Amino acid sequence: MAAGVLVYAYVSDGDDGTAEQTGTPTAPGVTSIVGPAEPDEIPNISAVGTTVTNPGRAADAASVQQPSAAGSLTGKVICIDPVHAADADLGSEPTGPGSPDTKVKDPGGSSGTVSGAPEHVITLAISMQLRQQLEARGATVVMTREGESFSGGNRERAQVANQARADLFIRIHCDGSTNPSYRGVSTLYPALISGWTDDILPASRDAAAAVQASMVAATGAPDNGTVARSDITGFNWADVPAILVETGFLTNPEEDALLNSAGYQAQVATGIARGVLAFLQPA
Ligand SMILES: [Zn+2]
Repeated sequence: MAAGVLVYAYVSDGDDGTAEQTGTPTAPGVTSIVGPAEPDEIPNISAVGTTVTNPGRAADAASVQQPSAAGSLTGKVICIDPVHAADADLGSEPTGPGSPDTKVKDPGGSSGTVSGAPEHVITLAISMQLRQQLEARGATVVMTREGESFSGGNRERAQVANQARADLFIRIHCDGSTNPSYRGVSTLYPALISGWTDDILPASRDAAAAVQASMVAATGAPDNGTVARSDITGFNWADVPAILVETGFLTNPEEDALLNSAGYQAQVATGIARGVLAFLQPA
């Protein structure tokens, strides 16, 4: 077990039938990982004891600016992964290269608590907006899927990014919780696992920090921070810097509505695109 891995407490299932992560990270240097072998690689993160508020959203939403013309991503390759697909895939896959442990490829996404909109539709819509924004800056964008279906698991999704030699692998997801008041955005990055993620961790962590900051600024959503994760199959197979963006909680009525609006999807995409620019073209 790698040193420096954060420890979380897991409680009941949330969206995707996954274990829900509600713990607060312990101090760095703790060397064990606590958590179930949940079937989905997509856990749900919420800070325990946090009163989630969003006082700035209305004002921020009105004042969000379009991406600055400054900065170019010419020559950069970005792989975007809209998590989930129309059909669940209950086959299993190794949790990382050479791992004896396996997890279900995709137990299926969740849906909006009010809208009923499927998660895979929302992740694709945000991803396509992000693609447009990145391409407008000159980036080459590779998608793991552009339609409703995807053949393969998280290993295959990571391999799309690896084969593209992407400068960044961005996975787009929606969060969920058994507590409907939880809301906000977070960005996950690979925890240290020697032989799997040690090579991509520093850059992934930097990318996560940049994207999280700009996404909060662009959306006004509560900032749930960045989180290192050791249990994300799609991270463990990645050979390029990788992050997973939790764009909001489909289990929260207000964020469900926002995530279903093209305008808010564009704000999320704008925030991510600005973060990508800050990561790849720092001032
Ligand atoms: Zn999901």
